[in-house]
Amino acid sequence: MSGICLAAKLKHAGVPTFTVLEKATDVGGTWRDNRYPGLRCDVPSAFYQYSFHPNPDWSHWLSSGAQIHNYIRTVVDDHGLREHIQLGVEVTCAEFVNGVWRVQDSTGTVREADFLITATGVLHHPVLPDIPGLDDFAGTKFHSARWNDTVSLADKRVAVIGTGSTGAQLVTALAGRVAHLDLFQRTPQWILPLPNWPTDPLTKRLRARMPWLMAAEYALIKRAFALFSTALISPGWQRWLVESLCRAHLYAVRNRELRRTLTPDYQPGCKRLVMSGGFYRAVQRRNVDVVTTAIAHVEPRGIVTADGRLHEADVLVFATGFDAHAYLRPMELIGPDGTTLAEVWRDGPRAYRTIALPGFPNFFMLMGPHSPIGNFSLVAIAEAQSDHIMKWISAWRQGWFSTAAPTAESTAKYNTELRRALPGTVWASGCASWYLGTDGSPEVWPWTPQAHARMLADRHVEDFHVDTEPSAVKVATE
Ligand code: NAP
Repeated sequence: MSGICLAAKLKHAGVPTFTVLEKATDVGGTWRDNRYPGLRCDVPSAFYQYSFHPNPDWSHWLSSGAQIHNYIRTVVDDHGLREHIQLGVEVTCAEFVNGVWRVQDSTGTVREADFLITATGVLHHPVLPDIPGLDDFAGTKFHSARWNDTVSLADKRVAVIGTGSTGAQLVTALAGRVAHLDLFQRTPQWILPLPNWPTDPLTKRLRARMPWLMAAEYALIKRAFALFSTALISPGWQRWLVESLCRAHLYAVRNRELRRTLTPDYQPGCKRLVMSGGFYRAVQRRNVDVVTTAIAHVEPRGIVTADGRLHEADVLVFATGFDAHAYLRPMELIGPDGTTLAEVWRDGPRAYRTIALPGFPNFFMLMGPHSPIGNFSLVAIAEAQSDHIMKWISAWRQGWFSTAAPTAESTAKYNTELRRALPGTVWASGCASWYLGTDGSPEVWPWTPQAHARMLADRHVEDFHVDTEPSAVKVATE
């Protein structure tokens, strides 16, 4: 999603030579990889889209993953990006040598580039639980992000492990389709009721005829989500409102014991808030059990919990999330002085203003460390970061510099301010989540998404080591 965003901006700016390298055989990132039943984006489609490519035809307020995947493909075709994309190319290493990035793929082929930009996503590497006996299971098992379409789930006993956004969507979609469903819940989640409805044909027509309507809709939802994000970064009435809505929503669960089982003991938003209008209905079905006893091991017939009970299953689905801190990995980056990314990030991923790294010239990241990944539209974040990167590329094309990288001092200063702000956020209020780094500190943006956009509106050249030498030569030959 973010790579295509930047590619479109490069194309519009008239940059003649750029290449997008993609290890898979199709574009779409997370919307290509995730195909589980019930997959929807819980950010409204009118906002979860590129501002430069509004789509009047979204079928719903919250669209399905398949529809978003198709939208990204359409953007690729409509903006003439196909010719710039090389599919099936997995980058293994990139090294900055003699003023250029030498980018090596898994076949050993090396491509050279003046700028290297990574758009490798945050939630990319599925995590499988470390449960004894998993390999002994006689049925079918797979991670939610590696959905197995060859297995028919109708009339099957399905066990779902995990109750994050994925688990909630999956259970809502599967409950009515399978013989029996066991949801293994280690920690309950707060669930904000978010209804979904189809877009009526008149709205589609109006959107298509009046683009300003779509722009207004985009701006309105963006404002509402920005307001929501303040609930996450500081205490106040917004946080109180979110908590009240979540608590009230719990009363959709009629059975007091089940309601207690589903009630978290941490603040809403501490773990990524789940948005769902149907989850509580699904878990109250007769054929659904919420299992809270810890999983002891797996045996051929199913899952055995710590109380010795066997929960028989034909299919095991791991909705157990992703390694959110494996930015760019396993790719290796090597700076001009031989410093590697592995060395720089030994204590966890740190960046300059979410987009760059000291010691790595002409290198930028989309969705880099501490990007605002709360419950905001990542498309809007990708656009703000892409626009910023385009400012650097435009300045380079005009011959203003040849290489630039943030200084270690400016990066340290930014990270000090960031770390000072993190303890006040809801993510640091006491729960385990994928937002937390290995040091227990949240690896997310502790201010508003507007503050992120404002920060990136300027290049802050004073924070960079800028080399002005051989640029004119490059521009002349371009
Ligand atoms: P997740 O939020 O990391 O949730 C993983 C779940 O698996 C948690 O309930 C976790 O329990 C459980 N789990 C992990 N290991 C376990 C084990 N060994 N035994 C039992 N339970 C285990 O992952 P996700 O649901 O895939 O979501 C990841 C992120 O993707 C979301 O937070 C969201 O940002 C994004 N997403 C977005 C949408 C959308 O609509 N926009 C949809 C899906 C996903 P604990 O809580 O106890 O750790």
